[in-house]
Amino acid sequence: MRFPKAIEKAEQILTRFGGEAYIVGGCVRDALLDRPCHDYDLTTNLPPEHVIEAFTGYTVIPTGLRHGTVTVHIDGLPIDITTYRIDGTYTDGRHPVHVRFSTSLEDDLRRRDFTMNAVCYSTVRGFVDPFGGVDDIRAGIIRCIGDPLERFSEDALRILRAIRFAAQLGFSVEPATERAMYETADGLARISAERILSELSGALTAPYADAAFTAFHKLFKTVLLGCAAQPVRPLDSLPADKAVRFAAVLKNGASDSLAQLKSDRRTVEDVHFLHAYSCFSGGRIELKKLLAAQGERRTRLLLGYLGTNTSVLDDVLANKECFSLRMLAVNGRDIAALGVAPQRIGSILHALLDDVMEGRAANEKNVLLQRAAEKT
Ligand code: ATP
Ligand code: MG
Repeated sequence: MRFPKAIEKAEQILTRFGGEAYIVGGCVRDALLDRPCHDYDLTTNLPPEHVIEAFTGYTVIPTGLRHGTVTVHIDGLPIDITTYRIDGTYTDGRHPVHVRFSTSLEDDLRRRDFTMNAVCYSTVRGFVDPFGGVDDIRAGIIRCIGDPLERFSEDALRILRAIRFAAQLGFSVEPATERAMYETADGLARISAERILSELSGALTAPYADAAFTAFHKLFKTVLLGCAAQPVRPLDSLPADKAVRFAAVLKNGASDSLAQLKSDRRTVEDVHFLHAYSCFSGGRIELKKLLAAQGERRTRLLLGYLGTNTSVLDDVLANKECFSLRMLAVNGRDIAALGVAPQRIGSILHALLDDVMEGRAANEKNVLLQRAAEKT
Protein backbone atom coordinates (compact mmCIF):
# COMPACT_ATOMS: atom_id res chain seq x y z
CA MET A 1 0.00 0.00 0.00
CA ARG A 2 1.42 3.34 -1.08
CA PHE A 3 0.30 6.62 0.40
CA PRO A 4 1.81 10.09 0.16
CA LYS A 5 4.53 10.94 2.70
CA ALA A 6 2.24 13.61 4.13
CA ILE A 7 -0.26 10.94 5.20
CA GLU A 8 2.38 8.98 7.07
CA LYS A 9 3.51 12.20 8.68
CA ALA A 10 -0.05 12.91 9.87
CA GLU A 11 -0.29 9.35 11.25
CA GLN A 12 2.98 9.82 13.13
CA ILE A 13 1.94 13.16 14.60
CA LEU A 14 -1.29 11.64 15.92
CA THR A 15 0.43 8.57 17.39
CA ARG A 16 3.18 10.67 19.01
CA PHE A 17 0.39 12.71 20.59
CA GLY A 18 -0.81 9.46 22.14
CA GLY A 19 -3.61 8.66 19.72
CA GLU A 20 -4.53 5.93 17.27
CA ALA A 21 -4.54 6.84 13.60
CA TYR A 22 -5.81 4.99 10.53
CA ILE A 23 -6.22 5.85 6.89
CA VAL A 24 -9.83 5.05 6.01
CA GLY A 25 -12.59 5.21 3.43
CA GLY A 26 -12.31 5.95 -0.25
CA CYS A 27 -8.54 6.45 -0.30
CA VAL A 28 -7.89 2.93 1.09
CA ARG A 29 -10.43 1.45 -1.33
CA ASP A 30 -8.87 3.31 -4.26
CA ALA A 31 -5.32 2.36 -3.23
CA LEU A 32 -6.36 -1.33 -3.22
CA LEU A 33 -7.81 -0.84 -6.69
CA ASP A 34 -4.76 1.06 -7.91
CA ARG A 35 -6.94 4.05 -8.66
CA PRO A 36 -5.95 7.66 -8.10
CA CYS A 37 -7.31 9.09 -4.87
CA HIS A 38 -8.63 12.64 -4.62
CA ASP A 39 -9.26 13.06 -0.91
CA TYR A 40 -7.57 11.55 2.10
CA ASP A 41 -9.29 10.68 5.35
CA LEU A 42 -7.76 9.66 8.64
CA THR A 43 -9.72 8.41 11.60
CA THR A 44 -8.54 8.75 15.19
CA ASN A 45 -9.66 8.21 18.76
CA LEU A 46 -8.45 11.70 19.70
CA PRO A 47 -11.19 14.29 20.15
CA PRO A 48 -11.06 17.22 17.69
CA GLU A 49 -9.58 19.66 20.20
CA HIS A 50 -6.64 17.30 20.73
CA VAL A 51 -6.24 16.87 16.98
CA ILE A 52 -6.03 20.65 16.64
CA GLU A 53 -3.43 20.77 19.40
CA ALA A 54 -1.41 17.93 17.88
CA PHE A 55 -1.07 19.90 14.64
CA THR A 56 0.09 23.17 16.20
CA GLY A 57 2.25 24.93 13.63
CA TYR A 58 0.33 23.47 10.67
CA THR A 59 -2.62 24.95 8.81
CA VAL A 60 -5.64 23.51 10.62
CA ILE A 61 -9.19 24.18 9.49
CA PRO A 62 -12.14 23.24 11.74
CA THR A 63 -14.11 21.88 8.76
CA GLY A 64 -16.89 20.13 10.64
CA LEU A 65 -16.12 20.33 14.32
CA ARG A 66 -19.62 19.23 15.31
CA HIS A 67 -19.05 16.02 13.38
CA GLY A 68 -15.48 15.72 14.61
CA THR A 69 -13.71 16.66 11.38
CA VAL A 70 -10.61 18.81 11.22
CA THR A 71 -8.66 19.43 7.99
CA VAL A 72 -4.90 19.77 8.25
CA HIS A 73 -2.57 20.74 5.44
CA ILE A 74 0.71 18.88 5.29
CA ASP A 75 3.16 19.58 2.48
CA GLY A 76 0.26 21.23 0.67
CA LEU A 77 -1.98 18.14 0.94
CA PRO A 78 -5.31 18.63 2.74
CA ILE A 79 -6.12 15.68 5.02
CA ASP A 80 -9.46 15.24 6.80
CA ILE A 81 -9.03 13.87 10.28
CA THR A 82 -12.22 12.68 11.98
CA THR A 83 -12.71 11.41 15.50
CA TYR A 84 -14.19 7.89 15.86
CA ARG A 85 -17.91 8.44 15.76
CA ILE A 86 -21.23 6.70 16.33
CA ASP A 87 -24.00 8.34 14.35
CA GLY A 88 -27.25 8.84 16.24
CA THR A 89 -30.65 8.14 14.72
CA TYR A 90 -31.54 9.79 11.43
CA THR A 91 -34.92 11.53 11.25
CA ASP A 92 -34.66 13.16 7.85
CA GLY A 93 -33.04 10.26 6.05
CA ARG A 94 -29.93 12.34 5.65
CA HIS A 95 -28.42 13.81 8.80
CA PRO A 96 -27.87 12.01 12.07
CA VAL A 97 -29.64 14.01 14.75
CA HIS A 98 -26.57 13.83 16.90
CA VAL A 99 -23.21 12.18 16.66
CA ARG A 100 -21.37 10.71 19.56
CA PHE A 101 -17.62 10.43 19.64
CA SER A 102 -16.28 7.01 20.47
CA THR A 103 -13.00 5.46 21.50
CA SER A 104 -13.65 2.31 19.46
CA LEU A 105 -12.42 2.03 15.92
CA GLU A 106 -15.00 -0.66 15.20
CA ASP A 107 -17.86 1.70 16.18
CA ASP A 108 -16.53 4.17 13.65
CA LEU A 109 -16.27 1.60 10.89
CA ARG A 110 -19.78 0.24 11.57
CA ARG A 111 -21.45 3.61 10.88
CA ARG A 112 -19.99 3.71 7.35
CA ASP A 113 -22.06 2.81 4.31
CA PHE A 114 -20.41 -0.07 2.45
CA THR A 115 -17.89 -2.74 3.41
CA MET A 116 -15.51 -1.43 0.72
CA ASN A 117 -15.56 1.98 2.44
CA ALA A 118 -14.90 0.61 5.92
CA VAL A 119 -11.42 -0.77 5.46
CA CYS A 120 -8.74 1.03 7.39
CA TYR A 121 -5.02 0.87 7.17
CA SER A 122 -2.13 2.00 9.27
CA THR A 123 1.39 2.13 7.87
CA VAL A 124 2.54 0.61 11.19
CA ARG A 125 -0.26 -1.84 12.01
CA GLY A 126 -1.55 -2.79 8.56
CA PHE A 127 -5.21 -3.45 7.77
CA VAL A 128 -8.18 -3.42 10.11
CA ASP A 129 -11.14 -4.82 8.22
CA PRO A 130 -13.90 -6.26 10.43
CA PHE A 131 -16.56 -6.35 7.67
CA GLY A 132 -14.64 -8.12 4.93
CA GLY A 133 -14.20 -5.03 2.83
CA VAL A 134 -10.93 -6.16 1.25
CA ASP A 135 -12.55 -9.36 -0.06
CA ASP A 136 -15.51 -7.38 -1.41
CA ILE A 137 -13.18 -4.93 -3.13
CA ARG A 138 -11.27 -7.81 -4.71
CA ALA A 139 -14.54 -9.43 -5.82
CA GLY A 140 -16.01 -6.11 -7.03
CA ILE A 141 -19.01 -6.12 -4.69
CA ILE A 142 -20.88 -3.25 -3.10
CA ARG A 143 -22.43 -4.47 0.13
CA CYS A 144 -24.03 -2.56 3.00
CA ILE A 145 -22.60 -2.88 6.45
CA GLY A 146 -25.32 -4.37 8.66
CA ASP A 147 -28.96 -4.58 7.58
CA PRO A 148 -29.28 -2.85 4.20
CA LEU A 149 -32.94 -1.89 4.79
CA GLU A 150 -31.95 -0.14 7.97
CA ARG A 151 -28.92 1.53 6.43
CA PHE A 152 -30.78 2.91 3.40
CA SER A 153 -33.69 4.01 5.61
CA GLU A 154 -31.26 5.96 7.80
CA ASP A 155 -29.83 7.75 4.80
CA ALA A 156 -31.26 7.36 1.30
CA LEU A 157 -28.28 9.16 -0.21
CA ARG A 158 -26.50 5.83 0.18
CA ILE A 159 -28.77 4.42 -2.56
CA LEU A 160 -27.38 6.95 -5.00
CA ARG A 161 -23.85 6.45 -3.72
CA ALA A 162 -24.18 2.72 -4.44
CA ILE A 163 -25.23 3.49 -8.02
CA ARG A 164 -22.44 6.03 -8.46
CA PHE A 165 -19.82 3.61 -7.12
CA ALA A 166 -21.15 0.85 -9.40
CA ALA A 167 -20.77 3.22 -12.35
CA GLN A 168 -17.29 4.39 -11.31
CA LEU A 169 -15.77 1.09 -10.28
CA GLY A 170 -17.68 -1.39 -12.46
CA PHE A 171 -18.75 -3.21 -9.27
CA SER A 172 -21.97 -5.13 -8.86
CA VAL A 173 -24.34 -4.64 -5.95
CA GLU A 174 -24.84 -7.62 -3.64
CA PRO A 175 -28.43 -8.95 -4.02
CA ALA A 176 -29.80 -8.12 -0.53
CA THR A 177 -28.29 -4.65 -0.77
CA GLU A 178 -29.81 -4.20 -4.21
CA ARG A 179 -33.28 -5.32 -3.09
CA ALA A 180 -33.13 -2.88 -0.20
CA MET A 181 -32.27 -0.02 -2.58
CA TYR A 182 -35.64 -0.49 -4.28
CA GLU A 183 -37.56 -1.11 -1.06
CA THR A 184 -36.33 2.12 0.51
CA ALA A 185 -36.45 4.26 -2.63
CA ASP A 186 -39.24 6.44 -1.14
CA GLY A 187 -36.58 8.00 1.05
CA LEU A 188 -34.99 9.57 -2.03
CA ALA A 189 -37.73 12.21 -1.90
CA ARG A 190 -36.02 13.65 1.18
CA ILE A 191 -32.60 14.03 -0.43
CA SER A 192 -31.66 17.55 -1.49
CA ALA A 193 -31.59 18.44 -5.17
CA GLU A 194 -27.89 19.32 -5.02
CA ARG A 195 -26.90 15.92 -3.62
CA ILE A 196 -29.05 14.07 -6.14
CA LEU A 197 -27.54 16.04 -9.01
CA SER A 198 -24.01 15.51 -7.77
CA GLU A 199 -24.43 11.71 -7.46
CA LEU A 200 -26.25 11.48 -10.82
CA SER A 201 -23.53 13.48 -12.59
CA GLY A 202 -20.89 11.31 -10.99
CA ALA A 203 -22.68 8.15 -12.12
CA LEU A 204 -23.49 9.30 -15.64
CA THR A 205 -19.98 10.53 -16.44
CA ALA A 206 -18.27 7.43 -15.01
CA PRO A 207 -16.63 4.65 -17.06
CA TYR A 208 -19.37 2.05 -16.36
CA ALA A 209 -22.27 4.50 -16.65
CA ASP A 210 -24.08 2.46 -19.25
CA ALA A 211 -24.23 -0.74 -17.22
CA ALA A 212 -25.26 1.20 -14.10
CA PHE A 213 -27.97 3.10 -15.97
CA THR A 214 -29.40 -0.12 -17.35
CA ALA A 215 -29.20 -1.95 -14.03
CA PHE A 216 -30.76 0.87 -11.98
CA HIS A 217 -32.98 2.48 -14.56
CA LYS A 218 -36.01 2.43 -12.23
CA LEU A 219 -34.09 4.38 -9.60
CA PHE A 220 -32.79 6.87 -12.15
CA LYS A 221 -36.40 7.48 -13.13
CA THR A 222 -37.33 8.12 -9.51
CA VAL A 223 -34.90 11.01 -9.15
CA LEU A 224 -34.62 12.30 -12.71
CA LEU A 225 -37.83 13.67 -14.21
CA GLY A 226 -38.05 13.05 -17.95
CA CYS A 227 -35.56 10.20 -17.82
CA ALA A 228 -35.74 8.20 -21.07
CA ALA A 229 -36.17 4.42 -21.22
CA GLN A 230 -32.72 4.10 -22.69
CA PRO A 231 -29.93 6.44 -23.72
CA VAL A 232 -29.80 7.65 -27.35
CA ARG A 233 -26.52 5.78 -27.69
CA PRO A 234 -24.59 3.58 -25.25
CA LEU A 235 -23.31 6.04 -22.66
CA ASP A 236 -19.82 4.56 -22.67
CA SER A 237 -19.49 5.47 -26.35
CA LEU A 238 -20.16 9.16 -25.65
CA PRO A 239 -17.70 11.74 -24.31
CA ALA A 240 -17.69 11.83 -20.51
CA ASP A 241 -19.17 15.32 -20.51
CA LYS A 242 -21.94 16.08 -18.02
CA ALA A 243 -24.22 17.84 -20.53
CA VAL A 244 -23.70 15.16 -23.20
CA ARG A 245 -24.47 12.33 -20.80
CA PHE A 246 -27.56 14.05 -19.33
CA ALA A 247 -28.81 14.91 -22.83
CA ALA A 248 -28.42 11.25 -23.74
CA VAL A 249 -30.62 9.98 -20.89
CA LEU A 250 -33.22 12.75 -20.85
CA LYS A 251 -36.16 12.76 -23.22
CA ASN A 252 -35.97 15.56 -25.79
CA GLY A 253 -37.18 18.77 -24.20
CA ALA A 254 -36.69 17.58 -20.60
CA SER A 255 -33.68 19.80 -19.85
CA ASP A 256 -35.82 21.70 -17.31
CA SER A 257 -35.62 18.77 -14.95
CA LEU A 258 -31.93 19.60 -14.53
CA ALA A 259 -32.86 23.14 -13.55
CA GLN A 260 -35.18 21.65 -10.93
CA LEU A 261 -32.21 19.74 -9.56
CA LYS A 262 -30.48 23.14 -9.28
CA SER A 263 -27.99 22.44 -12.04
CA ASP A 264 -25.79 25.30 -13.21
CA ARG A 265 -27.34 27.22 -16.10
CA ARG A 266 -24.64 26.33 -18.59
CA THR A 267 -25.36 22.60 -18.34
CA VAL A 268 -29.13 23.14 -18.65
CA GLU A 269 -28.60 25.31 -21.73
CA ASP A 270 -26.12 22.87 -23.25
CA VAL A 271 -28.60 20.01 -22.84
CA HIS A 272 -31.32 22.16 -24.36
CA PHE A 273 -29.00 22.94 -27.29
CA LEU A 274 -28.04 19.28 -27.83
CA HIS A 275 -31.69 18.26 -27.91
CA ALA A 276 -32.58 21.11 -30.28
CA TYR A 277 -29.82 20.07 -32.71
CA SER A 278 -30.20 16.32 -32.34
CA CYS A 279 -31.13 15.98 -36.03
CA PHE A 280 -28.07 17.89 -37.19
CA SER A 281 -26.48 16.00 -40.05
CA GLY A 282 -24.90 18.98 -41.73
CA GLY A 283 -21.98 19.04 -44.09
CA ARG A 284 -19.19 21.58 -44.20
CA ILE A 285 -21.39 24.64 -44.76
CA GLU A 286 -23.87 23.80 -41.99
CA LEU A 287 -20.94 23.10 -39.73
CA LYS A 288 -19.54 26.57 -40.39
CA LYS A 289 -22.95 28.11 -39.71
CA LEU A 290 -23.14 26.17 -36.48
CA LEU A 291 -19.67 27.40 -35.53
CA ALA A 292 -20.75 30.96 -36.22
CA ALA A 293 -23.98 30.62 -34.22
CA GLN A 294 -22.81 28.47 -31.29
CA GLY A 295 -19.02 28.63 -31.14
CA GLU A 296 -16.40 25.89 -31.19
CA ARG A 297 -17.10 24.47 -27.72
CA ARG A 298 -20.74 23.74 -28.43
CA THR A 299 -20.00 22.50 -31.94
CA ARG A 300 -17.60 19.93 -30.49
CA LEU A 301 -20.14 19.04 -27.82
CA LEU A 302 -22.78 18.34 -30.47
CA LEU A 303 -20.45 16.27 -32.64
CA GLY A 304 -19.52 14.25 -29.55
CA TYR A 305 -23.19 13.78 -28.68
CA LEU A 306 -24.03 12.64 -32.20
CA GLY A 307 -20.99 10.41 -32.44
CA THR A 308 -19.84 12.27 -35.56
CA ASN A 309 -16.11 12.47 -36.10
CA THR A 310 -14.49 15.88 -35.99
CA SER A 311 -12.30 15.68 -39.10
CA VAL A 312 -14.29 18.26 -41.11
CA LEU A 313 -14.43 20.60 -38.13
CA ASP A 314 -10.71 20.19 -37.50
CA ASP A 315 -10.05 20.88 -41.15
CA VAL A 316 -12.19 24.05 -41.20
CA LEU A 317 -10.39 25.35 -38.13
CA ALA A 318 -6.89 24.37 -39.32
CA ASN A 319 -7.45 26.07 -42.68
CA LYS A 320 -8.85 29.11 -40.88
CA GLU A 321 -11.85 28.93 -43.20
CA CYS A 322 -14.16 31.88 -42.71
CA PHE A 323 -17.24 31.26 -40.60
CA SER A 324 -17.79 34.53 -38.73
CA LEU A 325 -18.10 38.24 -39.47
CA ARG A 326 -14.83 38.80 -37.68
CA MET A 327 -13.04 36.52 -40.15
CA LEU A 328 -14.55 38.22 -43.18
CA ALA A 329 -12.04 40.17 -45.35
CA VAL A 330 -14.28 43.26 -45.17
CA ASN A 331 -15.80 45.01 -42.18
CA GLY A 332 -18.56 47.51 -41.46
CA ARG A 333 -16.36 50.49 -42.20
CA ASP A 334 -15.47 49.13 -45.66
CA ILE A 335 -19.17 48.73 -46.44
CA ALA A 336 -20.01 52.19 -45.07
CA ALA A 337 -17.33 53.66 -47.35
CA LEU A 338 -19.39 52.42 -50.29
CA GLY A 339 -22.09 54.85 -49.20
CA VAL A 340 -24.39 52.20 -47.71
CA ALA A 341 -26.95 53.40 -45.16
CA PRO A 342 -25.88 52.37 -41.63
CA GLN A 343 -29.01 50.27 -40.99
CA ARG A 344 -28.22 48.06 -44.02
CA ILE A 345 -24.58 47.36 -43.22
CA GLY A 346 -25.29 44.39 -40.96
CA SER A 347 -27.49 42.56 -43.43
CA ILE A 348 -24.98 43.10 -46.24
CA LEU A 349 -22.16 41.71 -44.10
CA HIS A 350 -24.27 38.64 -43.25
CA ALA A 351 -25.11 38.12 -46.93
CA LEU A 352 -21.38 38.32 -47.76
CA LEU A 353 -20.58 35.85 -45.01
CA ASP A 354 -23.13 33.43 -46.47
CA ASP A 355 -21.60 33.91 -49.93
CA VAL A 356 -18.16 33.07 -48.58
CA MET A 357 -19.29 30.09 -46.49
CA GLU A 358 -21.37 28.70 -49.32
CA GLY A 359 -18.51 29.07 -51.80
CA ARG A 360 -20.04 31.77 -54.05
CA ALA A 361 -17.29 34.25 -53.28
CA ALA A 362 -13.67 34.13 -52.18
CA ASN A 363 -12.89 35.75 -48.84
CA GLU A 364 -10.87 38.55 -50.47
CA LYS A 365 -11.40 42.23 -49.91
CA ASN A 366 -11.79 43.41 -53.54
CA VAL A 367 -14.04 40.45 -54.42
CA LEU A 368 -16.30 41.19 -51.47
CA LEU A 369 -16.38 44.95 -52.03
CA GLN A 370 -17.49 44.39 -55.58
CA ARG A 371 -20.19 41.97 -54.42
CA ALA A 372 -21.31 44.42 -51.74
CA ALA A 373 -21.61 47.15 -54.35
CA GLU A 374 -23.88 44.85 -56.39
CA LYS A 375 -26.10 44.32 -53.35
CA THR A 376 -26.61 48.01 -52.59
P1 ATP B 1 -15.24 9.30 -3.14
O1 ATP B 1 -14.50 10.33 -2.37
O2 ATP B 1 -14.49 8.64 -4.22
O3 ATP B 1 -16.59 9.76 -3.56
P2 ATP B 1 -15.49 8.04 -0.61
O4 ATP B 1 -15.87 6.65 -0.20
O5 ATP B 1 -14.19 8.55 -0.13
O6 ATP B 1 -15.58 8.08 -2.16
P3 ATP B 1 -16.60 10.31 0.74
O7 ATP B 1 -17.89 11.01 0.48
O8 ATP B 1 -15.31 11.03 0.53
O9 ATP B 1 -16.65 8.99 -0.14
O10 ATP B 1 -16.69 9.77 2.22
C1 ATP B 1 -15.59 9.21 2.93
C2 ATP B 1 -16.05 8.01 3.74
O11 ATP B 1 -17.08 8.39 4.65
C3 ATP B 1 -16.67 6.90 2.91
O12 ATP B 1 -15.68 6.04 2.38
C4 ATP B 1 -17.54 6.21 3.93
O13 ATP B 1 -16.79 5.38 4.78
C5 ATP B 1 -18.06 7.38 4.75
N1 ATP B 1 -19.33 7.91 4.22
C6 ATP B 1 -19.50 8.91 3.34
N2 ATP B 1 -20.80 9.16 3.11
C7 ATP B 1 -21.48 8.28 3.87
C8 ATP B 1 -22.86 8.03 4.08
N3 ATP B 1 -23.79 8.73 3.45
N4 ATP B 1 -23.19 7.05 4.96
C9 ATP B 1 -22.24 6.33 5.60
N5 ATP B 1 -20.93 6.52 5.45
C10 ATP B 1 -20.54 7.47 4.59
MG1 MG C 1 -13.50 10.46 -0.48
